[in-house]
Parts: sequence; structure tokens; C-alpha cells
Amino acid sequence: MRDQATSEHPTSEHRRFDAEVGRLLEIVTHSLYSNRDIFLRELIANAADACERRRFAAISEQGLLPDGGFAVELLPDKEAGTVSILDNGLGMNREELAANLGTVAASGSGRFLEQFKAQDRPAEADLSQIGQFGVGFYSAFMVADRVTVDSRRASEAEGWRWQSSGTESYSLEPGGEAPAAGGTRVTLHLKEDARDYLEPFRLKQLVKTHCEHIGIKIEMPDEDGKKETVNQAAPLWRRPASEVTEEQYRAFYRDTARAFDAPWRSLHWKAEGAIEYTGLLFVPSERPPTVFHPDRRSQIRLYVKQVFIADDCQAIIPPYLRFLQGVVDCEDLPLNVSRELLQTSPVLTKIKSGLVKRVLRGLGKAAGDDKEGYERFWEAFGPILKEGLYEDAGQRRELLELARFRSSTQEGLTALKDYIARMKEGQDAIYTLSGTELERLSSSPHLEGFRARGIEVLYLTDPVDEFWTAAIVDYEGKPFRSVTRGQSDLDRFDGKEQEEESEETPAGDSSASALLAAIRLALGGKVKEVRVSKRLAESPACLVAGESDIDLNLERLLRSHGQVHEASTRILEVNAKHPLLQTMSRQIASGAKAGAIEDSAWLLFELARVMEGEAVSDPAAFSQRLTRVMGRAVGASPPQPE
Ligand code: ADP
Ligand code: MG
Repeated sequence: MRDQATSEHPTSEHRRFDAEVGRLLEIVTHSLYSNRDIFLRELIANAADACERRRFAAISEQGLLPDGGFAVELLPDKEAGTVSILDNGLGMNREELAANLGTVAASGSGRFLEQFKAQDRPAEADLSQIGQFGVGFYSAFMVADRVTVDSRRASEAEGWRWQSSGTESYSLEPGGEAPAAGGTRVTLHLKEDARDYLEPFRLKQLVKTHCEHIGIKIEMPDEDGKKETVNQAAPLWRRPASEVTEEQYRAFYRDTARAFDAPWRSLHWKAEGAIEYTGLLFVPSERPPTVFHPDRRSQIRLYVKQVFIADDCQAIIPPYLRFLQGVVDCEDLPLNVSRELLQTSPVLTKIKSGLVKRVLRGLGKAAGDDKEGYERFWEAFGPILKEGLYEDAGQRRELLELARFRSSTQEGLTALKDYIARMKEGQDAIYTLSGTELERLSSSPHLEGFRARGIEVLYLTDPVDEFWTAAIVDYEGKPFRSVTRGQSDLDRFDGKEQEEESEETPAGDSSASALLAAIRLALGGKVKEVRVSKRLAESPACLVAGESDIDLNLERLLRSHGQVHEASTRILEVNAKHPLLQTMSRQIASGAKAGAIEDSAWLLFELARVMEGEAVSDPAAFSQRLTRVMGRAVGASPPQPE
């Protein structure tokens, strides 16, 4: 049949899917995922998007609007075993069909695929978020073993049929049954086990749960074959906040964000002043899958006087608020606003700054009203919000108030203002320790001296922390200071007794300097300096960064991204009160062999590296030295040559 068409129409052809689409289809067609209902929402969302795009195009192109207004129709056909989704939107021509339904333009698909590779049973993988990756169309193959897309670009004469059974290829040919005035008909040839979607009541119920707030009316034939509108199709955000119920907000959020969680917070307001606009924004309660994608796309849909304009408009929301979902509808922009104008419009700049203030204020209030909810929010979105600390100097103060941290002395999360309130007498800095694993941080030797003196240290566990701590000087006049960098000033907190006591220790000044000299001599250029530590209490040694050097964790981070290759030389600090070091001192004083001192010095250095989570610098030499030292400890004599 298809081959015949090919010979009749030289323009007919079979094409292979893009490799990524092929793999995606493999997953989707073999999916045993139980919540297949989502296919309908994806296809209706596409149909509604096409209508919105046609409405927008009609502003600059006369006569492009369809007669009788926009609508999406759902047409079940029991006899044929098909469901069609018909729209009078912008439609697609041949090139667009091939580009949109044959290749994966959106960068999210690679990540979508990755998500499944890692899973044990990809067949049962949760596909509910497929739409958020920009590949929602393919969800049709969860319920259909063949999909036909008939489309005609509005104002073009020729219609095209795209068809595929979801394996390697699809066909493209002229003709098909697209609406005469432009638009698209997607026909699903339902799988045997998906025939319940032929029941009109089932479809209606799905529209109610998933598409109630899509801004285009959705119609179905009633018993007498008359068209019946089955959704609200009214822009919820235009209603006064006092008339909208929690349930309606939630349904709207789910429809527009294609999410299944409930929003943690909704912000709905109408700004009436120099610039008039309505905002309906949601803070999700769960982290959307693509929020850490490097394109940092905004999720807010921008409307002008109820006409959809763009859904990726950077100009209304800064990237550090990209986790927000929702709608901004503006009265003060021309409808024929161009892409370029969107980037530079002073109206949008004003809206943006109003929006940012409102959102941050809203979050501040939420932090007070719902501490637990706020902590969950912070776990999910804190790392994104913190990008604002170095990107938006104007909001730094507010963002620092919103920030939460784990700390060496507190359970759960703490705010900076509470840290300040707990600061020790005479403490003039906010101490921080950065690293990727919380577990390792809390057992870091760098903390010992702080812990011994009851001084709190904040843990910085997100990569973004390295950037804002470099950009921000202080909070409330207190600078942020890394405990792994520079000279420790911890002795300022020590009382008289401790000082006296320390003078009595056998590792007095002269013996300490002999010890440091011996270690320095042994390690040579491996370390920048060897000095007595004030930050250690239990561990014998640790590595620190010099005052003007790059912090240990940042260097590790950059190395893992291949941005620096050479590790910089560090300062070795030793705990002069530690029995190990005191014994070394005595050995030096009694003129022990240089080899024994050298072994100990090297082992101390390697030990300090290991505590930092680094590998030993010279594994072969390390094991020889360790063997020798252990041998001495257990009294074994070294092997004699035969
Ligand atoms: P997304 O909607 O996130 O872009 P989809 O996989 O759902 O991803 O759709 C891919 C593309 O196919 C859409 O961006 C759109 O250009 C096109 N498309 C899908 N359905 C329709 C339709 N009914 N009318 C016009 N274009 C459509
Ligand atoms: Mg889509």
C-alpha cells in the first residue's frame, strides 16, 4: 500500500529516525509503565500549543485566524479502534513534520535517555515526566502501535501525512486528512490492551484530571453527535485570587507544568501601577528533572493580553528562579512583540524586578510559616537559588536571609542570622568548610580545633558555594572564612590556662622548630610550608591552603572538570601536642637516624592527603615506608639478603 503511494508520488518517502529518537521509542513502545494516561495530556498540550502559536502568528499575518475560534477535538472511533486528536492550530509542513517528529531538537532527550539507562527494569520506568524533556509526542506509542499525523500548515495548500509504527522509521507522503483550513489530526491506532481509551467517558475523565486548564476549548461529540466542550478553557489567572480554590490552583499547576506533585506554594497577584500584569507562579514541591540542565531555561509562560507569546523568556525571570512554574500575562506590551524586543523590553525588565521581589518576599514568608516545608524546598532548590548570590548583587541581602546551611553544631538546617546569634564572644567571622560529602566534612580534622572550642562551622556542600563565597564579602559585617585556608586564629578564643598549659608541653618552642625543620627537610618541595597547627585537636596533621591560594575543595572541583590539572602545593600543619609528634621530637633530640624521621614525616603527609580524600602521592614509596614503620612497631627484623 505504502510502496504504491511511493511510486505514485515521487515526494513520498521513508526516513529513519534520528538515533536518539530510535532509542527513545524503544523505551516508550516497550514500556509497561502503568500510568499511560499521560499520552493524552501530551497530545492535547501539543494541539493547544499549535493553536496558541497560530493565534500569535495571526497578529502579523492577515486572515490566519480560523473561523469559529480555536478548538481541539477528541474523536474516538470504536469500529476503527482509533482515537484522533484534531486541532485547528498552526499545523506543520513536510519539513516541519520531519524535523519535529523525526529528530530530537530539544537537548533534554539525552538526559531523558540517561535516566533510563541507569535503571534495572527500564520497561517499568516512570515515563510521566516525558513532556518536560520536550519529547512528549512520542508518549503516543505507549498506547498505539501505529500513529498517523495528518497536518497542513495554516495558509498552505498541501497537506502531509506522517506515519510510523514506532520502530526505526517513519513515512512522509502528501495528502492525508488534515483540516482544510490548516491544523493537525493525530490518529492513534490503539494497542489491543489500550482499547479502553475508546470509551468517551474515560476520555472525558482524563481531560478533567489532566487538561482542565488548558487555555483552548476541548470538544467531544455527545450521544447525539453534537459537539460538547469538556474543559473550562478559561484562563484561571485572570480570575481574582479570592475566587480560586486550592484545588483549582493545583489542577492548573499540573496541567501547565505537566507535573504530578502539588505546588508547595502558589503566588497569584495582579500588579496595577505603572505596568499592569498578572502573575500566577508556583513553587513545585519536587525538583523537576531538567532543572539542573545547563541551558537554565525558564519555565514561565509569557502571555500578552491572554495571547501566548513565549515559554522560554529569560527576560521575565532570572535563571536562579528557573524552578518556578506558571504564567505572566502582561497588558502593556504590543501583541506583535518580536523575539528581539522580548530580550530588551524595558516593560519586561520592570516586570522581572517586581516578580523577583515578590517571589523572594513570598519565600521569606513561607520560611517563617512552614519551617519544615521550607527545609524541603531548600533541599530541592537551594543550590539553584544560591546562583543568585553571585548573579544578582541587588538581591544578595534577601538571598542570604533565605539561605540555609548544615552546620557542625546544629541538627538540620540553620539560617545565617541564627548562626550569628550563636557566635562566640570575640568571633568576627562566619567559618565554613566545603566539600561534597557531608559525612566526610563532619569528620574532617580541620574541624577539631573549632569543635574543641565550641565554635560552629557551616558546611558548604554544593559546587555553587565556591562561587558565591568568592563573590560575597560578608553577611552583617561578618566575613565568610574557610577553615581550610590561611592561618587559623583560633588561639584568640583560648583562655589563659590553656596558654600556660601549652607552654608546659614538652614540645616547647625550640624542640618544635627542630621538628618542623626535620619534616621540611624530609618533604622538600612537596609542601609549601610546615607549621604548628592551632586547628587540630586529635589528628596528627592536616593540609591547608595558603591565604592567597585556591581552597582545597574548589581545586578538587575544578580538577574533576578538567579545568586545572596541576594540584597546588599545600601547607602541612602538624599537631605538636599529638603523642606521635612529641615522640618524633624526642627522637630528633636524641639524635635518631634520619631515615626513621623521614619515614614518619612522609607518612604524616600522606595521611593528611588521605584525610582530605586524596590518593597517596607515591603508593610504592608509601607502602615501603609503612612496612618499615610497622616492622619497627611490631619488632620484626627486616628481611636479610640470603
Ligand atoms: P514539545 O511539545 O515539548 O516541543 P513534543 O515531542 O510534544 O515536544 O512535540 C515536538 C514538536 O512537534 C513540537 O514542538 C511541535 O513543533 C510539533 N508538534 C507536535 N504536535 C503538534 C501539533 N498538533 N501541531 C503542530 N505542531 C505539533
Ligand atoms: Mg509537547
